[in-house]
Amino acid sequence: MIAFDYHKPSRLAEAVALLAGAETRPLAGGMTLLPTIKNRLASPAALVDLSGLPGMTVIQEGAGVVTLGALARHADVAGSALVQARLPALARLAGSIGDPAVRHRGTIGGSLANNDPAADYPAAVLALGAVIVTDRREIAADDFFRGLFETALGPDEIVTAVRFPLPRRAAYAKLRSPASRYPLIGVFVAETAAGVRVAMTGAGHGVLRVAEFEQALAKSFAPEAVSGLRLSAAGFASDIHAEAAYRAHLASVMAARAVAEALA
Ligand SMILES: Cc1cc2nc3c(=O)[nH]c(=O)nc-3n(C[C@H](O)[C@H](O)[C@H](O)COP(=O)(O)OP(=O)(O)OC[C@H]3O[C@@H](n4cnc5c(N)ncnc54)[C@H](O)[C@@H]3O)c2cc1C
Repeated sequence: MIAFDYHKPSRLAEAVALLAGAETRPLAGGMTLLPTIKNRLASPAALVDLSGLPGMTVIQEGAGVVTLGALARHADVAGSALVQARLPALARLAGSIGDPAVRHRGTIGGSLANNDPAADYPAAVLALGAVIVTDRREIAADDFFRGLFETALGPDEIVTAVRFPLPRRAAYAKLRSPASRYPLIGVFVAETAAGVRVAMTGAGHGVLRVAEFEQALAKSFAPEAVSGLRLSAAGFASDIHAEAAYRAHLASVMAARAVAEALA
């Protein structure tokens, strides 16, 4: 038996105050945190369940920005008529995460705070130049992801929402592991007001922008601009799922597929 205290606050300030306690962690969908505790890879003294906080599941649009509450579940994002109409690439990405059980529990805030190096959402957030809103500040996507399972979040900081500026066009392509459903490589391309942005997940060291693809697509936003580009395998991990050279090859293939879909 693994013992811990459980809190379910109904106000954000109360949740933040509780998180000041030693070894206290926020709980969202629990899809990662609970297995981690069950496998004894984490042993928090207390969990602060965020599900009682008001307004955290909102999905809304205003002033050219789509805002998702941090507790919006993957299935809610995939099924949202607003996201399907305004950010179809994000709706499709959310619908491709894991399996139905994961999509009905897992949240965008939990996914971003966890920052798994193969998670899908970080690629969209980085490529779209989204802003992560917390209980105390706003963090640009370029400053949020800090490598493997690391983010700019403080230990008692709560993601409350994510703001997505609307791109001119965007798409995401990935090759999923048939076992875990996580991408071996996922590439999100976006033509934004600030230019072309491309983010890749699954390379092994955390989500990152791919300058080679961005430069090529800025000159010509076409699949052929990236399909022939070969990234160095040195930047990719080898593991039981794929060799680095295969992942590097997949990067160009997925980038070209994403561009083709964005143009379709
Ligand atoms: C079988 C399986 C398959 C999966 N497949 C995929 C996949 O294909 N692609 C993919 O991207 N993901 C996948 N996932 C991950 C899943 O989609 C969830 O996004 C992820 O588990 C975290 O979200 P959660 O809401 O469950 O967070 P939790 O598990 O509750 O929390 C995760 C971490 O984030 C912290 N946290 C949670 N919410 C907040 C917040 N608002 N502010 C600050 N910190 C917070 C917690 O303290 C914890 O450290 C899979 C998971 C499983 C179990």
